[in-house]
Amino acid sequence: MTSTSESGLEEFKLFIGGKSVDARSGKTFDSTNPYAGKPWAVLADGSPEDVDEAVASARTAFEGEWGQLTGFQRAAILRQCGDAILANAERLARLEVNDSGKLMREMLGQLKGLPQYYYYFAGLADKIEGRSVPPMNPNYFCYTRREPIGVVGAITPWNSPLLLLTFKLAPLLAAGNTCVVKPSEHAPASTVAFAEVLFEAGLPAGVLNVVTGWDRSTGQALASHTGVDKIAFTGSSATGAKVAQAASANLNRVTLELGGKSPQIVFPDADLDAAANGLIAGVFAATGQTCMAGSRLIVHQDVHDALIDKVVARANSIKLGDPLDADTEMGPVANQPQYEKVLSYLQGAAAEGATFACGGEPDAAQGGLFVKPTVVTNVTPQNTIVREEVFGPVLAAYTFSDEDEALKLANDTPYGLAGAVWTKDVHRAHRVAAKLRAGTIWINAYRVLAPNMPFGGFGASGIGRENGIDAVYEYTENKSVFVELTGGTRDPFQLG
Ligand code: NAD
Repeated sequence: MTSTSESGLEEFKLFIGGKSVDARSGKTFDSTNPYAGKPWAVLADGSPEDVDEAVASARTAFEGEWGQLTGFQRAAILRQCGDAILANAERLARLEVNDSGKLMREMLGQLKGLPQYYYYFAGLADKIEGRSVPPMNPNYFCYTRREPIGVVGAITPWNSPLLLLTFKLAPLLAAGNTCVVKPSEHAPASTVAFAEVLFEAGLPAGVLNVVTGWDRSTGQALASHTGVDKIAFTGSSATGAKVAQAASANLNRVTLELGGKSPQIVFPDADLDAAANGLIAGVFAATGQTCMAGSRLIVHQDVHDALIDKVVARANSIKLGDPLDADTEMGPVANQPQYEKVLSYLQGAAAEGATFACGGEPDAAQGGLFVKPTVVTNVTPQNTIVREEVFGPVLAAYTFSDEDEALKLANDTPYGLAGAVWTKDVHRAHRVAAKLRAGTIWINAYRVLAPNMPFGGFGASGIGRENGIDAVYEYTENKSVFVELTGGTRDPFQLG
């Protein structure tokens, strides 16, 4: 359970085997509230030895009571988890705001929506079926079984830690696996409290274990652990590649949800007010710190100026401030390294000859880690600000003259997480959606997710899909069983 330290900070320990425990080293680290600019929580600084213990606990649970439950029983527990998340939504949302500076109104909405993921996957837990397969040789009865993989190591980033954990946890639990999660060192607290809530709700001890840690060696230890059967990772593409290498050395399965540089294509017939609103939602909501940020505006040359005027007008009126205030629209950047990264991209854009239609600098009035909502124009498709993920409130805008060029520009990226098409022409909308190389496409909309819609990326944006009816299969092994029916013997030197 969380408590308060002598220094007045909230305390969060590791959560292993249904118990709150100190790190073996006894060390701790602080989590800083980016709005207040000072530490608000103290966390156990877990090391590879703590990861060993958590993995052992997850293995014991997998081979014990949890592994014996039927899908119907797991479904009942998942529903209890959903109910408990709803009952604790406000407290959990507040922890996320303290850690990341994201808006309370956004995080509360996310937390209140999370139960739907557990209810959805509860509905699938009792429908994970094998198949009876027509035999090639009539002497055999053939069937398949879908079995859990075992222990899953989940590694999550600092933006929306509980939503991104849920994308993994709900399906992996539905399929009967157990989990060790290593949340980001920049936003670790909510995950610890979340595991406690799920345990209290009836998730057996050891099914979900949390190891927090400041040093990246903690995540490395989990990614390369020989006691783990699959790694489910969300984070940057650079780290994802390292995680995949570590997991593949053990021939472990991986799901990778990585970065993006998602395009929003605006055709001249589009509703420009709706498109401007979608651009604001795509890149300034959550201070642009979302993997699916619509950070590239590819706009038809005839409506470029009109659309930029609308976006800039709204961007300049975005209310920056305290993430806990109900009317704040944009909070600070989540941590100092990220703040410095965003500013260095802005300096780089200026050095490459870009113009700032708005923003382009820190918000001096707010101070701290606030960056003004920024629209960058006069860029070329080769500019760094167009090619690399900023993960901040920065939109890069450039033009096209026909549909083919729009598609060429949109697909000219190593990433492929998401994208949007803004047009009233239904033929063009579907044609372009089909040709965009990205995992999620919105038509006249942006930043919409659902538990029953697959989410994941093409190319450098990842491997595998989360959410949707098939996500449970990402956490199963498919086993074939041949049953000899006649009792006769066969030529031992012949196959089949
Ligand atoms: P990050 O890659 O720096 O860290 C992610 C996690 O990996 C953290 O928990 C970190 O401690 C851990 N880690 C770091 N090095 C590791 C290593 N060598 N081995 C194992 N674990 C290691 O990412 P971040 O800065 O926390 O998050 C931002 C990134 O996440 C952005 O690139 C963003 O696009 C991406 N993201 C993707 C999605 C998606 O679903 N596709 C969602 C959210 C964020």
